Amino acid sequence: MRRNIVAGNWKMNKTFEEADELLFNIAEPLQNLDLDKTEVILCPPVLYAEMFTDIAIENNFSVGAQNCSNHSLGAYTGEISAAMLKSMDIEYCLVGHSERRKFFNEDSKMLAEKVDQLLENEISPIFCCGEVLEDRESNNHFDIVGKQIFEGIFHLTAEELDNVVVAYEPVWAIGTGKTASPDQAQEMHAFIRNLIAKKYNQEVADDMTILYGGSCNAKNAKELFALKDVDGGLIGGASLVAEDFLKIVQSF
Ligand code: PEP
Repeated sequence: MRRNIVAGNWKMNKTFEEADELLFNIAEPLQNLDLDKTEVILCPPVLYAEMFTDIAIENNFSVGAQNCSNHSLGAYTGEISAAMLKSMDIEYCLVGHSERRKFFNEDSKMLAEKVDQLLENEISPIFCCGEVLEDRESNNHFDIVGKQIFEGIFHLTAEELDNVVVAYEPVWAIGTGKTASPDQAQEMHAFIRNLIAKKYNQEVADDMTILYGGSCNAKNAKELFALKDVDGGLIGGASLVAEDFLKIVQSF
């Protein structure tokens, strides 16, 4: 179902005490915001999940994980399964973030398996895609993003796809302070929606929530979220500053 979403990806930041303080500074004001039209998702380090899920409902947010295993259970030391996430009341999970693709060599096959694991456990994948700078400069960005989408989620039925959120994150914009221009963001979001329409149908495409990520902040969120095919944002750096994140949440 298409909706406005602002998701904060805390990445590998904050000790337990720091996370507790940031959570309080975000969650308390969230209680008093009129968020009828916006869903807020916090993706902290999964170790702290319970602190978040304990207060999520009364504070108007959902909890997401940043990663999960592509295996269902067993001898995979250090891994966390989708079933474990589900048992901790986690509702969303990032898949295919560029940092996981780059630093942990996660390929399309593995990402599609993660998507399947999550859906089997009724967790919504937030499927990230995006091109590196060289791909954009050589005009290959549509091919690259199209391939990522095709290999990561196009094996799903339309019914399954309804539980997926897509996040377009140009890698050159992540953590760099270089945001995609409104034209660049709208063009790619429309391209992704069109791919979905071609593979499934227009109704499925119109129902897809597509987030923008990459140096989205309190100053540029309003302009980006106003674009026709942008349904919100996946926020990294700015999600670690309560005041900024709360401004972004109110940018629709
Ligand atoms: C991200 O890592 O998903 C992200 C969008 O980071 P930032 O907002 O810091 O660019």
